[in-house]
Amino acid sequence: MTTKDTIHQYFKQQQALYGNELYLSNEPDPLPGPESVKEGAETHGALDEFHQSICQCLECPLGACRTNFVFGVGDPNAELLLVGEAPGEQEDLRGEPFVGRAGKMLDDILKAIHKKRGDGVYIANVLKCRPPNNRDPLPSEVEKCEPYLLEQIRQIQPKLIVALGRVAGKTLLKMDVPLKEMRDKTHDYNGTPLRVTYHPAALLRNSNFKKPTWVDFQWIRDYLQNA
Ligand code: SF4
Repeated sequence: MTTKDTIHQYFKQQQALYGNELYLSNEPDPLPGPESVKEGAETHGALDEFHQSICQCLECPLGACRTNFVFGVGDPNAELLLVGEAPGEQEDLRGEPFVGRAGKMLDDILKAIHKKRGDGVYIANVLKCRPPNNRDPLPSEVEKCEPYLLEQIRQIQPKLIVALGRVAGKTLLKMDVPLKEMRDKTHDYNGTPLRVTYHPAALLRNSNFKKPTWVDFQWIRDYLQNA
């Protein structure tokens, strides 16, 4: 990726987080108050630094065929971390996770529990580069890429991780079972509670999944309120 592409991607991410105000204001961001900074949590700076340190990664063959590296977007102090398996076509083109119709569906679900990406929520994938034809991640790719997710988790310190879809769930939990066997249970992912629910794209394909997904997100909302 060229420097121009990197800067473009950076501003696209900032725009996703803050909207167009970023381009209109010369004022520095107000300093966050003590309540808004989670103790021990890293800031955008550390996460951005980590992003820059790995965005040229070629540790597995997917690095050679990506259009964009898809690090993740959102609040660096998020209490909720949503994780998909890997970027799809639109994500690869835009360098952002969960865009397009599935991304809009995810935003609508978050809105229903009074949340939005960039405010208490961070969104990432296990793999940072798109597998060809959207195939499932290979174990060898997960082995190389999962440490990046673990570092993101270490920096963000979410209260809860939610794996979106069976593939993300089975990849993180290392269990090859149907989604319904992973749902409705609180798992442990390296010390952080993890739930599994439907991928927003599945809801677009089959509206029968909307009701159980809503049940899951109500649970997520209540859990975060009481955590
Ligand atoms: S998928 Fe992960 S390990 Fe493979 S090249 Fe991309 S960033 Fe590196």
